[in-house]
Amino acid sequence: MVDKIKKPDAEWRKALSPEQFHVTREKGTERAFSGEYYKTKTPGMYKCVCCGSDLFASGDKFESGTGWPSYTKPAAEGADLASRSRAALSRPRASRPSPKLRP
Ligand SMILES: [Zn+2]
Repeated sequence: MVDKIKKPDAEWRKALSPEQFHVTREKGTERAFSGEYYKTKTPGMYKCVCCGSDLFASGDKFESGTGWPSYTKPAAEGADLASRSRAALSRPRASRPSPKLRP
């Protein structure tokens, strides 16, 4: 994952919840089937909780049964996701989606 925003950990801790900090800054993983957006069907764009960049669109999201939000393609080349590999695509653990939706 490329860090587009450089901040000391203390700043990230203030900006993120403890779980968001763990997932995005410490390469943590939410427990399967526990994620806030795992079952979300709200239409819109999933965005990086750290920098707000587009990750993937709700129309590309599908239920994979893995317990994490899964999607068929990222919003754009170089989207702020942990990895482009299939395994990582089913676990967007380094870039937890935030609920911000496009108007
Ligand atoms: Zn980001």
